[in-house]
This record gives sequence, C-alpha cells and structure tokens, in this order.
Amino acid sequence: MVERGIYGGTFSPVHNGHVRAANAFYDLLSLEELFVVPTFLPPHKPEAVGCSAEDRLAMTRLAFADNPRRVTVSDYEILSGGTSYTYKTLMHFSAPDVRLTFLCGTDMFLTLPQWKHPDKLFALARIAHVRRTVLSEETEEAVLRCAEAYRRIYGGDIVHLQLPPCEISATMVRERCARREPIGDLVPPIVHDYIAAHRLYGNPAAGGLS
Ligand code: ATP
Repeated sequence: MVERGIYGGTFSPVHNGHVRAANAFYDLLSLEELFVVPTFLPPHKPEAVGCSAEDRLAMTRLAFADNPRRVTVSDYEILSGGTSYTYKTLMHFSAPDVRLTFLCGTDMFLTLPQWKHPDKLFALARIAHVRRTVLSEETEEAVLRCAEAYRRIYGGDIVHLQLPPCEISATMVRERCARREPIGDLVPPIVHDYIAAHRLYGNPAAGGLS
C-alpha cells in the first residue's frame, strides 16, 4: 500500500506555515509521496488573492523544489478549471494500492461537511488535521466533536498531527507586502525573491522587501 498525501490550498502565496505543515505531514505519517495541489480560482478571484494561478503555481513549485521528500506540485486543479471540488481531486489521485491522506488546517477541518459530497471525501481519504495556531479550549473541543461526528456519520478516518503551530497566513503576507513591510520571516527565500521580481501583492518597490 503506497501512502500518498494530498495538500490543497490557494497558496497565494505559499508560506513557511504551509511548508512546515507539509513537511510534518510527510514525516509524521511516513508518507511515500505528497501532491501539493494549488486550487483553480474563478476569474474574478485573482483580485482577491493578488496574483494569477500561474504565479501561485510557480511559487508553490519553487517552495518545494529543493525538498528532500518526494513532493510533486500538481497543476491538476488549475488546468481542470471550473470550481475545484476536493472529492474530485481525491478521485484523480486515488489508485488501487494507494492510501490517500488529505491534509487540512483547523479552519478547513471544521467545515468539511459543507464541502461537496463529504461522504465521498471521507470514503476516498483519511483526513489529517493540523493546528495553525494554539487553539482556544472551545475550538479544541469543537475539533474533537467534529472528529467524532465525522467518524460516526461518515466512517471517517481522522488523525491529528502534533506539531507546534506556526501562526503564518497568506493574508498576513499579502498585507505586509501591501504595506511594503518585510516578509523574509514568512516565506521561503526563493518565494520572497519571486514576489519581489514579479512585484506581486501591491507592487512592492524594489528593496521594499527584506
Ligand atoms: P489565506 O490567508 O489567504 O486564507 P492561508 O494562509 O489560509 O491563506 P491556504 O492556501 O488557504 O492558506 O491554506 C491551504 C491549507 O493550508 C489549508 O488547509 C489551511 O488550513 C492550511 N494552512 C494555512 N496556513 C497554515 C499554517 N500556518 N499552519 C498549518 N496549516 C496551514
């Protein structure tokens, strides 16, 4: 049985929190391969996330290019176009003798029943939950309640990854760029250079990032 991880997201841009979560996902679950899948966004969305699908894909590829793990950044959802449904992506990456595990942060984890065909989603993949921040007691309880309900209602297989949270978000990166503040502590150096070279997220002036 091949252990294959799937990690989807907007990745606008990919940041250190994503890379750390992906690496921990791979290592803690002894994955043999990981597919990172930037999602397609409808044409009106690039304004909301600040750059094109090509840029998101390029940055995500750069962020994982030197990773010693077996990571593939896939253009599957971007090339498919239209609304990206995770159950469809999981179907695409499923195969006999492959066990899929889908990684998601707490925000996504709590909303899984609202995704298209949650029954298929849980049938196709084990779900790995990762905390993005130190959760309040209330949110920890909500996570446990959800995990229990997913097991009971959908027969879901849920694992919680134990790693210290990394409080970075792509929104934080975009906001700092817009204010021309340094982002060197938030993204991999190669992504930092791409953002500067392509003047993404508020057209930062040369030298405005460090
Ligand atoms: P935005 O701020 O634009 O909403 P984001 O930082 O949440 O973006 P996404 O591309 O939307 O990034 O996230 C993709 C996946 O990565 C989601 O499952 C999300 O929960 C998870 N994720 C994002 N940031 C972190 C982090 N710092 N630690 C762990 N998981 C994260």
